Amino acid sequence: MVQKEAFERLAEKNRKRILEINSAIWDYAEPGMKEFQSAAYYIRALREEGFEVEENVSGIPTAFVASWGSGKPVIGFLGEFDALPGLSQEAGCTTHKELTPGAYGQGCGHNSLGAGAAGAAMILRDYLKETGQAGTVRFYGCPGEEYGSGKVYMARDGRFDDLDACYTWHPDDINAVVGSSCLACLGVYFTFTGKTAHAAGCPHLGRSALDAAELMSVGCNYLREHIIPEARLHYAYHDAGGIAPNVVQDRVVVNYFVRAPKVRDMMDIYERVCDVARGAALMTGTKVEIHIYEGLSDYIPNQTLDGYVQQAFEALGAPAYDEQDERLAREIRETLSDADKADVFTKLHNMGLSRTELSPEDILCRKVLPYSFTENAVGGSTDVGDASYCAPTSQINAATMALGTACHSWQVTALGKTGVAEKATLTAAAVMAMGAALAMEAPGAFAKAKEEHRAATGGKYCCPIPAELKPNLG
Ligand SMILES: [Zn+2]
Repeated sequence: MVQKEAFERLAEKNRKRILEINSAIWDYAEPGMKEFQSAAYYIRALREEGFEVEENVSGIPTAFVASWGSGKPVIGFLGEFDALPGLSQEAGCTTHKELTPGAYGQGCGHNSLGAGAAGAAMILRDYLKETGQAGTVRFYGCPGEEYGSGKVYMARDGRFDDLDACYTWHPDDINAVVGSSCLACLGVYFTFTGKTAHAAGCPHLGRSALDAAELMSVGCNYLREHIIPEARLHYAYHDAGGIAPNVVQDRVVVNYFVRAPKVRDMMDIYERVCDVARGAALMTGTKVEIHIYEGLSDYIPNQTLDGYVQQAFEALGAPAYDEQDERLAREIRETLSDADKADVFTKLHNMGLSRTELSPEDILCRKVLPYSFTENAVGGSTDVGDASYCAPTSQINAATMALGTACHSWQVTALGKTGVAEKATLTAAAVMAMGAALAMEAPGAFAKAKEEHRAATGGKYCCPIPAELKPNLG
């Protein structure tokens, strides 16, 4: 029988290694798809831990798969390690103070994310060793979550297809199993080309790519009313055609994001956006080229796997923060606006949970929230979605930050290698490993998870990016 004490003990046994990883990756803080030192550190550590490591997966130098054990079930843990530009911050400092001005920092907590997921793999390895059970444990080193979307290429290559169960987590301000979805997202460049001319002397000879791009914006802004309200369209002028008003612009590039709760809705809306772009080109006598450069699927929670993970989370409990953690978190809370602090209640609502689960006075989330399965898409987009289309996937949040803290902020970097993040990272590792062990122990659990997965996905993954698109290594 699976006992929580075994997982507490094994988390303690692996504690040193997990926290060393957490700290080292915080220090490296490398850009997406360029996490060379971080990946090398992981690969060395995992080999020392007895994992076999395949490097350079899916044509990405910093993608790797570490594997231990043999036979079924095959259990995967997804780790990320990339950082964000402009979020350098002194560790443990509760006022905004850059460590290196303008540098990258772990403002989304991916140092902890990877360390916790690798920790889960090590804990499950130890558990299988101790109990003499068969099974394969994999840790996926997934680069570029923030930029480049490594998992999409790994998913397109079928790297997750043979998993019986896949687990991951994300640093957050709450402790919860994620029963909600996130938005599918497509990144597209629209390049309009026309003909230059003197804008005063002979404008009739010009064909303006800038006019086309502006008319595309007008068309898309009208389109908004006639797409599902959950969808999102945003655009930025990647190249506005130069700085001279007296030259008719002959080349303009606009970068669009098309998001929707389901990939199929996103692709429908994308086709309509393409029609608007073609219409704008027709109106202006220009040409348009359309290039998808990024695509992410929505996330599909798996209630079967989530049930075991929730059981594990409730047994192991929220991270046991101490007084020092509480003090740090309180000081961080003082840097947040009232709107920031209130946002956690909107999040609870979107997750289908009661606002009364937390109090406005709470500094840290000291409980495990109840599980709530909802069709709602909460937050932005992530390439975990693509893994979730390939294999039954369960994802948790663990509180590495003060309540009300938003990801992609210096406050996240500040706490990233303090006791707050460390305790949550160890908790996340133990919860994911124990959740997997509970599913292994329950007869037919993986078959049921797979059946649920088949019903939710139609049994097939259609990668949203074109087959010929290569990873953008920056
Ligand atoms: Zn993140």
